[in-house]
Amino acid sequence: MWLVECPSFWDQGLVRPLVTESGAVVLRCDSCEAVWRTLADFEEQEHVEPDEPDWLVGAGVHVRPGTFRWAAQPDVEAAGLGSLRWRALP
Ligand SMILES: [Zn+2]
Repeated sequence: MWLVECPSFWDQGLVRPLVTESGAVVLRCDSCEAVWRTLADFEEQEHVEPDEPDWLVGAGVHVRPGTFRWAAQPDVEAAGLGSLRWRALP
């Protein structure tokens, strides 16, 4: 599932919900890998670019490779994002 196209003008990725190891749901572009910690951060264009070795997104939240998975409908509902207009991947 995805929400919108990546806001970066040079990128054609999709912004998708992701479940981190801590259980926090964040938004991540599947192309440029920018991360928005919350919907409010996304709306304010406050992205982060997690990088090795810590891959930190915020306090206690990271996107280290192999530790996260793309979210499904129950995940976004649990995170309070269920009412957004999620779209199915092609
Ligand atoms: Zn992107």
